[in-house]
Amino acid sequence: MEKIVIFDTTLRDGEQSPGFSMNIQEKLQVARQLEKLNVDIIEAGFPIASEGDFEAVREIAKHITKCKVAALARAEAKDIDRAWEAIKVGKNPRIHTFISTSDFHLKYQLHLSREEVLKKAVEAVKRAKSYTPDVEFSAMDSTRTDRDYLCEVVEAAIDAGATTINIPDTVGYAIPQEFGDLIQYLRENVANIDKAILSVHCHNDLGLAVANSLSAVLKGARQVECAINGIGERAGNASLEEVVMSIRTRKDFFHLTTQVVTDQIYSTSRLVSRITGVNVQPNKAIVGANAFSHESGIHQDGLLKEKITYEIMTPESIGIPQSALVLGKHSGRHALRDRLKKLGFELSEEELNVAFKRFKDLADKKKEIFDEDLEAIMTEEIYRVPRAPEKYKLINLNVASGTVTIPTATVEMEIDGKKVKEAGFGDGPVDAAFKTIAKITGTKSKLLKYSVNSITGGTDAQGEVSVRLEENDHIVTGHGAHTDIILASAKAYINALNRLAYLLKR
Ligand SMILES: [Zn+2]
Repeated sequence: MEKIVIFDTTLRDGEQSPGFSMNIQEKLQVARQLEKLNVDIIEAGFPIASEGDFEAVREIAKHITKCKVAALARAEAKDIDRAWEAIKVGKNPRIHTFISTSDFHLKYQLHLSREEVLKKAVEAVKRAKSYTPDVEFSAMDSTRTDRDYLCEVVEAAIDAGATTINIPDTVGYAIPQEFGDLIQYLRENVANIDKAILSVHCHNDLGLAVANSLSAVLKGARQVECAINGIGERAGNASLEEVVMSIRTRKDFFHLTTQVVTDQIYSTSRLVSRITGVNVQPNKAIVGANAFSHESGIHQDGLLKEKITYEIMTPESIGIPQSALVLGKHSGRHALRDRLKKLGFELSEEELNVAFKRFKDLADKKKEIFDEDLEAIMTEEIYRVPRAPEKYKLINLNVASGTVTIPTATVEMEIDGKKVKEAGFGDGPVDAAFKTIAKITGTKSKLLKYSVNSITGGTDAQGEVSVRLEENDHIVTGHGAHTDIILASAKAYINALNRLAYLLKR
């Protein structure tokens, strides 16, 4: 069976959308998981965009050896040079350069003629090619580009050395049949099309990103660009898990395959949602909490008799863990390490010590420790902030609230090593704690989102809090987990403040 190349853009298109930003360590963690998932290519970022992006791409290129690592660059010399600078340390570097080809973009955004764009595309591909043999060219807004002009640009890009040609539905405008036709048109009208792999990159504005990608695959596209949980600009990108599981579940129809290790899908999805603090909707295909639960009596009855009656794929095929209950108070370091390994976390001795201490604290408060609890510990203790020392630390928190008292918080913190203590009031205990922390730190950030989820069932469950803050165009998400949700909230808020301080270099 012919193979479809899976190009993951979780760390580029996904990460750049509001609320999904990750720090370098988090990106590297996701990249390592993507390597286990065995995607063909990881698009690691857009190095010219910022110093942070550059560093993250370089780190990923340095550490990821099984997958190709791609860096994005506009069709500009300085972008391409910067992209190369970031990925040249890698084993399999790819430069992905792009320029818009639709008349809308030419007229209103680029202010260039079609001839000028064609020339820039060719120059960009040649420059990238002088650095690496693996060059991808994207004709941005392809689906609103004049077809014959698109053919001309694609042919010129291949002549200049592009080995992958990407056809993005940048604005999520295409309809599956129409998009498939476009791919066929390119195959029939570009003389040298066989010298490159045709790729597609679909956005989900009309909810058709996966359908469009699959329609293109049927007409000869051999690379699909996609993201875990379908994250990305606006309504997101084609979801990797949906594309991969469609091809796998319906191989009788597609007669195609991918190299993705599908039983790593679930943990990859969990990792991305935990790191970004954005939960997957319960009815999301493949990875949503309800994706494999059958509620209707008729369905349940059928399933009990024979799984195939209502189950087109098994939860095991995407790696949903079989037993939820894992560890308790008496579990030792070894058991913890084993279980974390199963969940996809390989820890150094030092990291295991930190995780084990936190695990023991939690086991004292909570009888049963579930996988979700362990994941929360990992995100909070091991992957939460850059390795740089934290500017803000919570030392003590005391909150009084109830039906007759005005909610009051007393907070003791350490700021750059100096202890500070304050008290304040609020509308509720969380509000009181946040206002007091804001007073102590003097933060000017705006709270965009506050959410609490219980990690597992039961009133002794850990509350998992996400706090999203904005300051000077930087948006960060902080996390905190604790059996006491007020404390979890304060931890999440301070975690977010530390991230902001890091970004704003305070
Ligand atoms: Zn995109």
